[in-house]
Amino acid sequence: MKTEEWKKRIDNPEEYTTALYQRTDELYQVPDSVPDENGMITCPAMIMRDIVVFPRMVSPIFVVPGPNLDAINYVQKENQTMIALMLKDSDIENPTHDDFLEVGVEIAVGRLLSLQDGNGSALVQGRSRVKIIEIIEKDDFWWVKGQVIEEDETSNRQTEALMRTSRDLFERCVQLDRTLPDEAHLFSINITEPGWLADMIATAVSLPYDERLELLTILDPKERLKKVNWLLAQELDVLQLEDEIQTRVQSEVDRSQREFYLREQLKAIQNELGEGDVWSRELVELKAKVDAKKMPEEAKTQANKEIERLNQMPAMAPEVAILRTYIDWLLDLPWEDATEDNLDVLHASKVLDENHFGLGKAKDRILEYIAVKSLKPKTDRQPILCFAGPPGTGKTSLGKSIAAALGRNFVRLSLGGVRDEAEIRGHRRTYIGALPGRIIQTMKRAGSINPLFMLDEIDKLGSDFRGDPSSALLEVLDPEQNFSFSDHYLELPYDLSKVMFVTTANNLGNIPPALLDRMEVIEFPGYIEEEKLEISRRFLIPRQLEESGLEPDELQFDEVALRKVIREYTYEAGVRNLEREIGQLCRKTARLKAEKKRFTKTLSMAAIEKFLGPPQFFFAEAEREDEVGVATAIAWTENGGDIMPIEVLVMEGKGSLQITGQVGEVMQESAQAALSYMKSRVDPLGIDPEIFEDIDIHIHVPEGAIPKDGPSAGITIATALISAFTERPVRKEVSMTGEITLRGNVLPIGGVREKILAAHRAGLKTVILPEKNAKDLVEVPKKVREDLKIIFVRHMDEVIDIALAPALENGNRFLKRIEEKSKKVRKDEK
Ligand code: ADP
Repeated sequence: MKTEEWKKRIDNPEEYTTALYQRTDELYQVPDSVPDENGMITCPAMIMRDIVVFPRMVSPIFVVPGPNLDAINYVQKENQTMIALMLKDSDIENPTHDDFLEVGVEIAVGRLLSLQDGNGSALVQGRSRVKIIEIIEKDDFWWVKGQVIEEDETSNRQTEALMRTSRDLFERCVQLDRTLPDEAHLFSINITEPGWLADMIATAVSLPYDERLELLTILDPKERLKKVNWLLAQELDVLQLEDEIQTRVQSEVDRSQREFYLREQLKAIQNELGEGDVWSRELVELKAKVDAKKMPEEAKTQANKEIERLNQMPAMAPEVAILRTYIDWLLDLPWEDATEDNLDVLHASKVLDENHFGLGKAKDRILEYIAVKSLKPKTDRQPILCFAGPPGTGKTSLGKSIAAALGRNFVRLSLGGVRDEAEIRGHRRTYIGALPGRIIQTMKRAGSINPLFMLDEIDKLGSDFRGDPSSALLEVLDPEQNFSFSDHYLELPYDLSKVMFVTTANNLGNIPPALLDRMEVIEFPGYIEEEKLEISRRFLIPRQLEESGLEPDELQFDEVALRKVIREYTYEAGVRNLEREIGQLCRKTARLKAEKKRFTKTLSMAAIEKFLGPPQFFFAEAEREDEVGVATAIAWTENGGDIMPIEVLVMEGKGSLQITGQVGEVMQESAQAALSYMKSRVDPLGIDPEIFEDIDIHIHVPEGAIPKDGPSAGITIATALISAFTERPVRKEVSMTGEITLRGNVLPIGGVREKILAAHRAGLKTVILPEKNAKDLVEVPKKVREDLKIIFVRHMDEVIDIALAPALENGNRFLKRIEEKSKKVRKDEK
């Protein structure tokens, strides 16, 4: 049986060799059968499956009880040979005569070894090829009549060459095939007959059954040798490939073993030097830290896994630093440590009032939150507040106060200019120098899992090809997801659900809608002068005095002085610059005090100018003359509101319209609309309709470096245009805002409160607003409403009545001249 043969040859090559080559005497004692007068011999048949016995070669066979066994018993008694019949297909169970190869082999059978299970095994030796003539079926076993084939045993030069090639190839096979004993090659050298050599190699090398059968049928020794060579070459290919693989595997194994031994040695050396101790002590300490750290099971497992990896590494390995940093991050992050909330509403209210003046809406919202939380501690949804307003209006500092009131840690992360998602989520550890994203970094700074986390400038978030950070932020701010925030570096879910997020923004319009949707907006309007006075007195001055090392009574700001600082040295919605200026005044005084020079304890006007330099702004800019062609718009900006003069110039030309001053598309369209409106109203306005062909119009919005856009300057542009064409001056104290339609209707606009505050700040007296904006007035402080004359309009005609003064008596006659000139030209043409 094939497998049996294999097994035998692999398991026990030595025994196999003996079986193969030892010319066991008993086999030779069996005489060849003597041919009759026709050269025929008749012998009992041995049916062979899977095994091919070649002449002169010895093979072990395996016999089951049946005809074969009976035949063997018979020939041993008679001391005669048998004829081995080879099955063409070894799978055939009950063969007929046609199923046998036409060439058989006369064999001698050695002593039968009985095996325990009734089977037997014996050595057989091939004698010569026999051409099968007839198969005779008898009771116990079959008989075969065959003609002995005499083989040509001479060799010539060609067969010599073939034999040499065969031996060489065979030698290499023996070297590579570990199942072949070295003596096999030696044996081949001693064979001088080509046919024998072919048969010997065919027996030794592992060949498929059908190849062996074919070799048996090739009667010409030269041809047989050729075929053997071809088979050897193929076998050699396979063996070489096997060998290569084997070598590679071996060298891999060798290398890792080598490394293992070197590591062990290194450890031993480190131990000798006392370094190994330090290293293992460090690891033990690290492990103790992990054990003691309050962290989720998952994180703990991860940390321990990494420590185990560290343990496998020598202390000097380059990965050690990376792994250490990672473990340190896991250890430094707050996973479960939380501060306890102080949910006492009265206490909170006190803290907030102590630090901030005004800001009623924001404070109320916070106190409501605390109240709800104290009544229902298990509220799972943290509100996400968005403080929106110009800079310096107390957004950040209120955030800090809330944290203080609640007894939470406060952290802040500025999102301005963050364009890369990886900045939020971090880089994978595979990158060199990778770190967690900013969220996780900030959480580490927070030191507790429930800090008040301020995300500053959420409206300044960028996005580019490196991914959109706002999508990562969505996950941060979404209560459905943020209990398992994923950071690329950490590779572990991190719970952000206990964090109280507060965002800040100057311009809500720039926040991605999906983000804005998650937040509750609380507006921080700008402050009016009275509020600034109050904030200065209560907070800014005492703080700056203290920071400069002055006693409270050493520098006093009276109201006049403070107003001067506010009006002439600052121009802002918040109080940031104001605080800076106050700080400067305090420091200058402190220096005088330190230099033991004389200084006045009450700040005089002269002292202010001496300390702060000449005034930077001129309050009530509107103290100018009434002017033709210039109207004052009020605009919303990120820094609160601002006033914005709009100039119109008319000159000789060909009817073109030019708009300058970094004006956006919407504002340009609104200028076109204003112009069209005016053209449609030439009659009531008393403008010569033909003049438009002979003039150019230039509209300019100064401060060209700042981009401006939006429709709300519509009525102001129309006013400036009409003023320019009718030569009626615009009243200096009037400011306005509103969109204009082609029919002159005035449409509502946004940002009313900031705009009114800006007009108030600039010292203007009258504000024209669209009627539909009347509802927004409730948000405007009472003091401002009292100081200003606020007029609501529906139509441009009303604006003209309010804003334009009567035409100048002896004003610029420029238009008249052009008018007359063009009339003359036309008359001439006729
Ligand atoms: P923002 O974050 O809105 O830009 P900040 O919170 O940084 O503004 O405020 C700037 C400064 O103004 C801080 O020193 C803050 O204490 C002070 N401030 C602003 N508003 C108030 C207020 N209502 N009461 C007291 N101080 C204020």
